[in-house]
Amino acid sequence: MNEILIHKTINHFQEKFGSAPEKVVLSPGRINIIGEHIDYNDGYVLPAAIDKIICFAFEKNNSNQSRIIAIDLDDEFEIDLADLVELNEKVWTNYLRGVINQLKINGFVFEGFNCVFSSNIPVGSGLSSSAALECGFLYGINELFNLDIKPIDIALMGQKAEHWVGINCGIMDQFSSVLGQENKVIKIDCRTLEFEYHDANFKDYSLILFDSNVKHSLFTSAYNKRREECEEGLAIIKNNFPEVGSFRDCSKSQVLSLKDQMSEEVFKRCYFVVKEIGRVVKACEALDNGKIEVLGQLMFETHEGLSKEYEVSCDELDFLVNIVKSEEAVIGSRLMGGGFGGCTINLVKKGHEEDIKNRLSKLYDHAFGIELKNYDVKIGKGASLYKQ
Ligand code: ADP
Ligand code: MG
Repeated sequence: MNEILIHKTINHFQEKFGSAPEKVVLSPGRINIIGEHIDYNDGYVLPAAIDKIICFAFEKNNSNQSRIIAIDLDDEFEIDLADLVELNEKVWTNYLRGVINQLKINGFVFEGFNCVFSSNIPVGSGLSSSAALECGFLYGINELFNLDIKPIDIALMGQKAEHWVGINCGIMDQFSSVLGQENKVIKIDCRTLEFEYHDANFKDYSLILFDSNVKHSLFTSAYNKRREECEEGLAIIKNNFPEVGSFRDCSKSQVLSLKDQMSEEVFKRCYFVVKEIGRVVKACEALDNGKIEVLGQLMFETHEGLSKEYEVSCDELDFLVNIVKSEEAVIGSRLMGGGFGGCTINLVKKGHEEDIKNRLSKLYDHAFGIELKNYDVKIGKGASLYKQ
């Protein structure tokens, strides 16, 4: 599937600019096995890059003007690198303007280029097409002009570009898109940015995403509210336990002991975060020991917490998780990403995938009148150059 996308992108480039591209970059989306809403809470997360990508084709054009074409949107924009970089009403261009802004702020010197890109990452479903966009674009400019930017700095500048667009995201998405490795999940310590790879051996189980096909408008306001609630809770915890630097230094019993000092919401958010960080540690052990059923159970627990304690689920996502809970062939499921819509991530026994997809689609359609989409995902590598 990716080969088709790559050839389409290269051909389009050739038609527009009359020559083969100098550099072709493949930049993946990501999944997160467990550790949701944890990156901005300085805990551990367990994401991986996937085999769905944005493909970029680049060439220098010996001017100060850059021309960037989004094949999927049949749209393009030009930017004069000498000008001040400003937000534009075409939102998709801002992720790329944000990258150029970061490069300029950090003093990197580069010239005009032509760029064409196309993607097979579902947009807005929680697979982080936005991080793939920022990081792949930056990766390509880095290669084209030999800027010598380290992978971790590509991720950090990609994150800053997304902040500039207006989404106050953590580092997980950009990190995974750049530093992912084939058949590995990455345990990232979001406080120190230390990371370690664990074998992604899911044994007899396939990873399937079910896309609820909804995106409730609560998403952005709730996301920012959760960040505030967690900050408020952490301040109370630190006041009482000065040795605590961030949530992952904190025990469940410490949070419980402060229940009376917090509003009900703030308590529930903090309790979820501390337990979720613990689940990531347990999930790594389960993976290392080949105990996939344990991993699946942890995923169900995460969903329960996201729904009842962190309160970022919705009827559609709860429905999708509850239904598969009673299926023997599905050993783990939870909402993935920010919540209020998007996908669930599921561990489905090999050989049962089509049966589960068919039945769940029918039930979902019956309950909500919405088409359920599904994506098979395999773990892929981080951003890379395609050898033409
Ligand atoms: P997610 O990152 O979960 O896919 P976001 O809302 O964070 O969802 O980012 C999606 C946005 O990224 C799109 O609305 C669009 O602006 C931009 N984007 C993603 N993929 C493409 C693409 N193939 N072409 C143009 N813009 C894209
Ligand atoms: Mg995004």
